[in-house]
Amino acid sequence: MRLFKRVEALQRHLQQRKTAGDAVGFVPTMGALHEGHLELLRRSMRENQCTVCSIFVNPTQFNDPTDLAKYPRMPEKDIAALARLGCEVLFMPWEEEIYPQGKDTPTPEVDLQGLDATMEGVHRPGHFAGVVQVVHRLLEIVQPDRLYMGQKDYQQFVIVRHMIRQLGLPVRIIMCPIVREADGLALSSRNLRLTPEARAAAPRIYEVLKEVLAQTARQPDADLEALAAAAFAKLDQLPLKPEYFEIVDGTTLQPVRTLDEADSVVACTAVWAGDVRLIDNIILKWEADEEE
Ligand code: AMP
Repeated sequence: MRLFKRVEALQRHLQQRKTAGDAVGFVPTMGALHEGHLELLRRSMRENQCTVCSIFVNPTQFNDPTDLAKYPRMPEKDIAALARLGCEVLFMPWEEEIYPQGKDTPTPEVDLQGLDATMEGVHRPGHFAGVVQVVHRLLEIVQPDRLYMGQKDYQQFVIVRHMIRQLGLPVRIIMCPIVREADGLALSSRNLRLTPEARAAAPRIYEVLKEVLAQTARQPDADLEALAAAAFAKLDQLPLKPEYFEIVDGTTLQPVRTLDEADSVVACTAVWAGDVRLIDNIILKWEADEEE
């Protein structure tokens, strides 16, 4: 595996691959790699001759400085996992490579059309502006053919897809399914910080999501706002504390009342498990659009 910390050296390597006609797949991460990340990488490695993984804990997307300080960092372990996997390139940049003019390095104007005004956007002000800024910069550096992102961060996927379309960036974005523990808990770097009590309760999140899916399968005209309220109440039991539970149009991210109101419908939730904030979601209805 080749490890790059500087943009120039990375681009020199990638230029050679592109000149040879090889497709480049890209998986951006914040490290503390787990099976969820590795699945994105495996898919990229199947579909492209060259795969780039980036590890960068992006300060501009953390609205809570404590969360940034506590974010797990384990570069040696990550490097070993990527080498074992056979990933060709790891880009682990210094901060000044990403933000050469400091954190206010300008980003093209993207009208998010309210996509950042719901769910995570409400509870994490400024978070998606930081995500758009860093993903745009990383795409500018790597210029991949394909970008792989997890369904785990569904709102993030929708916002990045919107940015790519609005700016007409020449990259295909591919969403990969959520990888879970055997008991259903979605894998997340933050799971490492769960206390035993919070860890024991956390699988309840996926159980409740699955109950909502089962109910909509049984009763396709179910009142989704009522289902969301009931799911919130079920999750509101110590040590879990839900922040939101919303059933939304998979494209606009606006709440829907019934399944037939949208082509895609997704139930999304954020739950505090002790002092760790977990997010999860489940697709209730999916109509792939022409590009996916
Ligand atoms: P992160 O390191 O948390 O920024 O995540 C990097 C990428 O991995 C994002 O596209 C995430 O959506 C994706 N990801 C994180 N956890 C999972 C998971 N459990 N299953 C699938 N993809 C995931």
